[in-house]
Amino acid sequence: MRCTVDLHIHSCLSPCADDDMTPWNIVGMAKLKGLDAVAVCDHNAVRNLPGACKAGREYGVCVLPGMEVTSREDVHLLCYFPTLDAAFTMGSLIEKSQVRIRNKPDLFGRQILVDADDVPLGEEERLLLAASAMSISEIAEAAWDLGGVMVPAHINKGANSLLPVLGLMPADVALPAVEIVQTMPHCVRGKLCIHASDAHRLVDIREAEEACMLELPELSPDAIIAVLRRGKEEA
Ligand SMILES: [Zn+2]
Ligand SMILES: [Zn+2]
Repeated sequence: MRCTVDLHIHSCLSPCADDDMTPWNIVGMAKLKGLDAVAVCDHNAVRNLPGACKAGREYGVCVLPGMEVTSREDVHLLCYFPTLDAAFTMGSLIEKSQVRIRNKPDLFGRQILVDADDVPLGEEERLLLAASAMSISEIAEAAWDLGGVMVPAHINKGANSLLPVLGLMPADVALPAVEIVQTMPHCVRGKLCIHASDAHRLVDIREAEEACMLELPELSPDAIIAVLRRGKEEA
């Protein structure tokens, strides 16, 4: 089946996202826009995922647990997991590897934590934008070992993106899939290229008509991860 997916959306836990990007609002908007699946990927954090998964079950939208990790090279990497448990294991790995800096909400934005029913729990105090001490290859390996997959984010964008930062595709990391910004020139041979909204506002979540399409045997986190792990299939 062909499924419409938006696999890069920030919740209100990311300091740069709008306060009304609560998990239930995101998944409700995805439903309205006709998407089959979404991934909530906060910067170096996973604690708003339970609400997204619960809302997904309620609204009939497949929710893939995710996180946008900042590597020690300062590259943004989308990591996707088959279960909440796996995402939380990776979340604590990343948290431990981060330099601990206190967030300054006036400067960076609020980092709003909510429970599984969208009830605010307070604000995350650690600055989530701080980079991890883990390298790109260490993050790829950790995600893979948890049954997930790492997909470099917006690789052809400016700052915090794989190609501008490294200047080339790293040869020592398996990267079956990459996320590209469609409006920018790109040339990625041999990779499955996905595109997504990187939405920080509800209005920016992709409409089904312009969303990335994946051919899946069934609509589930496992099926999406299997496709991303397999990468580009030879014609
Ligand atoms: Zn990013
Ligand atoms: Zn992002």
